[in-house]
Amino acid sequence: MKLKTKIHFFSTLLMLVILALTNIGIYFLFEKIAYDTEYNQLRTQAEELTSSLSKMTVQNDPATVLRAYIPPNGAVRIIDTTGKVKVAVESAEGIKKYNPFIKPGERYSIGEFDNTPILTMREPVIWTDGKVVELQIIQLLSDVKHNLSLLKLILFGVTLIAMIPITISSVALGRIVIHPIDNLIKTMSQSRKTGTYEKIEVPAEGKDEMAQMGHEFNDMMGQLESNFKKQEQFVSNASHELKTPLTVIESYARLLSRRGFDDLSVAEEAVGAILSESVRMKDMIEQMLHLARNQEHVAFDFEETAINSLVEKTLQPMRQAHARDFILEGNGSVVAVTDAEKLRQLVFILLDNARKYSEREIKTTISGNETTITIAVTDYGNGIPEEALPHIFDRFYRVHEDRNRKTGGTGLGLAIAKELADGLGAELKLESSVGVGTTFRIIMPKK
Ligand code: ADP
Repeated sequence: MKLKTKIHFFSTLLMLVILALTNIGIYFLFEKIAYDTEYNQLRTQAEELTSSLSKMTVQNDPATVLRAYIPPNGAVRIIDTTGKVKVAVESAEGIKKYNPFIKPGERYSIGEFDNTPILTMREPVIWTDGKVVELQIIQLLSDVKHNLSLLKLILFGVTLIAMIPITISSVALGRIVIHPIDNLIKTMSQSRKTGTYEKIEVPAEGKDEMAQMGHEFNDMMGQLESNFKKQEQFVSNASHELKTPLTVIESYARLLSRRGFDDLSVAEEAVGAILSESVRMKDMIEQMLHLARNQEHVAFDFEETAINSLVEKTLQPMRQAHARDFILEGNGSVVAVTDAEKLRQLVFILLDNARKYSEREIKTTISGNETTITIAVTDYGNGIPEEALPHIFDRFYRVHEDRNRKTGGTGLGLAIAKELADGLGAELKLESSVGVGTTFRIIMPKK
């Protein structure tokens, strides 16, 4: 069953059940009130009759007294203790045959005679012989029957009329709910067929859940599209970047095969170039793998870490590998809750860049306040031109391509650094001025 039909069917059915139950309730309540009213009227009559009977003597004809109080369309009976009818008067035809049953403890009973409800009430009376007898007053409720039939008809009609707006509103409800879902289905199937990232139209003033769903869907499509484009860009950049070293390797290998074995200097040059390009390619592939893994949301392992000793441990191998002054400045030991390994990688990238793009000493400073710790890596190199700053964290972006080739850069280091910083909940800021130097700052929360 379609969702629209389900909504339509169940909401209409539910309303019908509610209406029917309400109407049945109204009917029975009215019936009870009508019977109670009739009983109360009859009781007043019974009281008057009881007082007349108490004044009656042996000479009086009891039937005459009873006749004075007989209800129209009914009967009055006096029943003795054995259950035998002592006196009975009737004003309705055939009512003599009617034998009422009143449950013990009940004030009155409603039975049926001739397809008409009949009310019987009883009252103990002291008879002329001093014995207690039962006075029964019986009345056919033709008016009540008529009123109840009329009420039944009215309630049935009201239910039928009420079903018209209910049906219309359930159809409208179905449309309201289904329309955006239909739209969504159409857009999704269109996107699947055409391979595009279609969006759905959402009314600008819409604030309900459907509009929210539409906005969420459009945002998700936008994100998918941008991720796909990024991925495409990445693949195209990566293949382009890998093509260059491969071309170099290929040409040197050809050179080697042509002349290299006869000429040692050519062979040395070719092998050297092949080696350095292979190393560059290996580095690039490692970094690309790192980025790809990061995209799969690598788990970060946060724990209390002594920042000074972590930075010192990162600087140590750099001092040994490069004949350079790596200075560490910072007051005492600061502790932060972070992922030590990821932070070490991040600091390493910044230090390695500082080393690659400057000639003089490199200064690392650790400072902190109540809530944050800042690790600043400063070099006194060429700096980064202002127009390059907005792109500096983009994948494969390099400032001066030729210069960077010499340094063996891939343009992926800072992209990785940015992702690491994001994962650590840290901010990565930079200040640079051409010809003076560059400072990268990692500003991370203590907790
Ligand atoms: P690469 O592998 O080329 O170093 P990065 O993403 O680490 O890639 O850096 C991107 C570019 O930013 C570098 O190619 C370089 O031009 C510039 N750059 C990064 N760090 C510095 C620095 N400390 N000083 C000057 N330029 C820098």
